[in-house]
Amino acid sequence: MSDCIFCKIVDGSIPSKKVYEDDKMVAFYDLEPQAPVHIVMIPKTHIASANELDEHNSPAVAHIFSKVPEIAKSLGLNGGYRVVNNCGADAGQTVFHIHFHLLGGETLGTMV
Ligand code: 5GP
Ligand code: ZN
Repeated sequence: MSDCIFCKIVDGSIPSKKVYEDDKMVAFYDLEPQAPVHIVMIPKTHIASANELDEHNSPAVAHIFSKVPEIAKSLGLNGGYRVVNNCGADAGQTVFHIHFHLLGGETLGTMV
């Protein structure tokens, strides 16, 4: 999508500090980290939010989760981490290209 910030990160027109990339996804440092390690993981295909997932596009999400252990290990998150998805206004979603926050590097508070 032409006006989507994360599609622009995928195509390189907005720079990002990437920690992982393959043909289906990109993982990069969040601009405003909420933990010592705060990564955003996105599919290269534009899906607006978790509310748009279906049986056809959900493999893109499964792929991201299949790479979480490898990404977490590469960042030294040996003590654990949290994966978060904000869906929609009530959850505070600000970028409407589905993404998963990977948070760690300290003992995280109880959010749920
Ligand atoms: P949301 O609130 O939608 O779950 O999360 C969006 C996240 O994207 C926020 O944590 C915000 O800091 C991050 N973000 C927004 N724009 C950019 C950007 O241009 N580059 C990077 N690296 N992160 C961004
Ligand atoms: Zn997008």
